[in-house]
Amino acid sequence: KLSQRLGLLLEQIPHGSKLADIGSDHALLPLAAVQTGRAVSAVAGEVNPGPHRAAEKAVQDAGLKDRISVRRGDGLEVLRPEEADCITIAGMGGALIASILNRGKVEGKLAAVRTLVLQPNVGEDILRRWLLDNGWVLTAEALLEEDGKRYEVLTAVPQDLEAGITNEGLYADAARAGGERLYSMETLLYMGPWLIRQRGPVFVAKWLDEISKLERILESLSRSELESAESKRTEIKARIREITEVL
Ligand code: SAM
Repeated sequence: KLSQRLGLLLEQIPHGSKLADIGSDHALLPLAAVQTGRAVSAVAGEVNPGPHRAAEKAVQDAGLKDRISVRRGDGLEVLRPEEADCITIAGMGGALIASILNRGKVEGKLAAVRTLVLQPNVGEDILRRWLLDNGWVLTAEALLEEDGKRYEVLTAVPQDLEAGITNEGLYADAARAGGERLYSMETLLYMGPWLIRQRGPVFVAKWLDEISKLERILESLSRSELESAESKRTEIKARIREITEVL
């Protein structure tokens, strides 16, 4: 059975997609996508030999070799231009996902892509920044908790001025959710423009935990003799204030 996390990713894949799942491990997501009709075809990309073999075996066992192509390679280099219109990348750091997308963009592998579904384990802000800087607009953000871990799933589409899908619109609307005090761009990238507006229970729990973590760091810094400790403390206090104002 698919984990809740992969289930959430699956839901974000448009019906009838030509999917590419990068860092596919056991190819669970492309298998589910093809089996449910979300994807008509899929590429499962893996850079490491172990997971690549596992993906090949899983696809073979499912009898789906004609629909799912398992390929070994780094990031989007496994794709031919125009081959995929939806790309999923899950279970890696946000910085790594951003660098995979960036290289793919330079190599023209994103030109035909209409949907990105991304699940960074950490560094969500770095990934949101990359999307913003490269003309991708977040259309949905989800946050879930499973087996004691929290995961963010980000869905993005190319900016479309005619359809009014723009980052300006997204972030201006999200900033206003702060009411009298408009949220800053930094806060929105850090906490998520959609997640901030939803402010669900998992979101609140996540950021309360983050405050506790920052407070522990503050405490250990207060025992530090280092000169840089003071500016670090000021920075962390500002961060705590920023999170508290959103909650
Ligand atoms: N995507 C699956 C999921 O979310 O359940 C597997 C996540 S697993 C933690 C990360 C996978 O990404 C590993 O199998 C690893 O080999 C692969 N990976 C890491 N860097 C990669 C890259 N640059 N290109 C392709 N695969 C990569």
